[in-house]
Amino acid sequence: MTDLIRLTAAETAARIASGEVTAVEVTEAHLARIEAVDEKVHAFLHVDREGALAQARAVDAKRERGEELGPLAGVPLALKDIFTTKGIPTTVGSKILDGWIPPYDATVVQRLRDADVIVLGKTNMDEFAMGSSTENSAFGPTGNPWDLTRVPGGSGGGSSASLASFQTPLAIGTDTGGSIRQPAAVTGTVGVKPTYGGVSRYGMVAFSSSLDQGGPCARTVLDAALLHEVIAGHDPMDSTSIDEPVPAVVEAARNGSVRGMRIGVVKEFAGEGYQAGVMQRFNESVELLRELGAEIEEISCPSFDKALAAYYLIAPSECSSNLARFDAMRYGLRVGDDGGRSAEEVTALTRAEGFGAEVKRRIMLGTYALSSGYYDAYYGSAQKVRTLIKRDFEKAFERVDVLVSPTTPTTAFPIGERADDPMAMYLADLCTIPTNLAGNAAMSLPCGLAPEDGLPVGLQIIAPAMADDRLYKVGAAVEAALIDKWGHPLIEEAPSL
Ligand code: GLN
Repeated sequence: MTDLIRLTAAETAARIASGEVTAVEVTEAHLARIEAVDEKVHAFLHVDREGALAQARAVDAKRERGEELGPLAGVPLALKDIFTTKGIPTTVGSKILDGWIPPYDATVVQRLRDADVIVLGKTNMDEFAMGSSTENSAFGPTGNPWDLTRVPGGSGGGSSASLASFQTPLAIGTDTGGSIRQPAAVTGTVGVKPTYGGVSRYGMVAFSSSLDQGGPCARTVLDAALLHEVIAGHDPMDSTSIDEPVPAVVEAARNGSVRGMRIGVVKEFAGEGYQAGVMQRFNESVELLRELGAEIEEISCPSFDKALAAYYLIAPSECSSNLARFDAMRYGLRVGDDGGRSAEEVTALTRAEGFGAEVKRRIMLGTYALSSGYYDAYYGSAQKVRTLIKRDFEKAFERVDVLVSPTTPTTAFPIGERADDPMAMYLADLCTIPTNLAGNAAMSLPCGLAPEDGLPVGLQIIAPAMADDRLYKVGAAVEAALIDKWGHPLIEEAPSL
């Protein structure tokens, strides 16, 4: 039975389809794993035991009736608690939504249900997806299964930790500045930020609407592709959703190859602040790509140095506007509503109590940056930098098919180490942010363990917009070559809990 939790999503689906195991058995095995280890990991904020089992029974009944099953039917999944789920609490890691039960499913959730993917529950995250460690959750931190005293990355640390501790083979994250890729990197898992507009944002609680993007998380490249295909595609409910065919990601993942491809190494993502072991594994990966038949070229993207600064004006600006809706009248928490106070006072008391320090910091920063007199100096300049970054990418992709870099400058840091130092925390997303600002696609996949601490290192692959399939083609080739080298998928090395 415990074996079932070690399978990939693809293998699990195949066994269910052939009748070798039932979806109920698979779901029960994962629920048992959650019960056994999640007290230590704290990946889940809510486990929907009954809902998951009911869904699993429906899949088994479908099979018995001889109906055709989708490619991930019966496979369990952990959902970042930023997606609305009908009848199931949705907290976004915040106290401000206390007691709110959404009346509808996000499009991503609807698509998962339509595909018979089993939603096990909702995972922990930094409040409103602001953070790189999951320490900003109002419900306490999540541990990294490789070392429970370290962070699992953020903001989607619950999703990455649930994968790395074998509580689920699939998870969903969101990536505004790196929150899918950075957690994947530090937990030895795979995470993909699709092209902006590739996956619907309908029902995904907004942080920074021009950057937010939901995407797949898994332990293998193929599993991520299978999930990508289920959740992606045009949605009339999201006005920024792209009305074009989804890139052929599954086909690419099944045909991994870099032969004849031109691959660019981002020159700016190296040097001071990069851990030696991270650079060592990254450089070995570049060598591996060369051995596999890729042409390697160094590419300079000079504006990337300004990406972090631009992001920390744009994201807080958009969040200050998006989070205005949490006014104590519409959703969740309401503080001080004793009949003697004005609506404004109740709103102020509720926001003071309901939001954590990082969310308040961002709302203040954003409000300031957008205020008249400062708008041009801050928000306006940041938007110009955004254009320059886009141009850097355009120029780069004239020369190469994909770019590569480390996903994050260091391996998982200890819980508490950066909690009181926002700048140090922000630096975790140095390499991931340019892609969000430009709107193109990127993946992080494991490329070894750093020799100095034995912790996972992530390789980032970056593709042009709507060329998400390239990520999977390259990712699958690298993954297969690394498995050849080490004889097993990297994740098998994670210390068992
Ligand atoms: N760590 C970044 C931030 O705090 C990115 C977050 C994200 O991608 N949601 O904003």
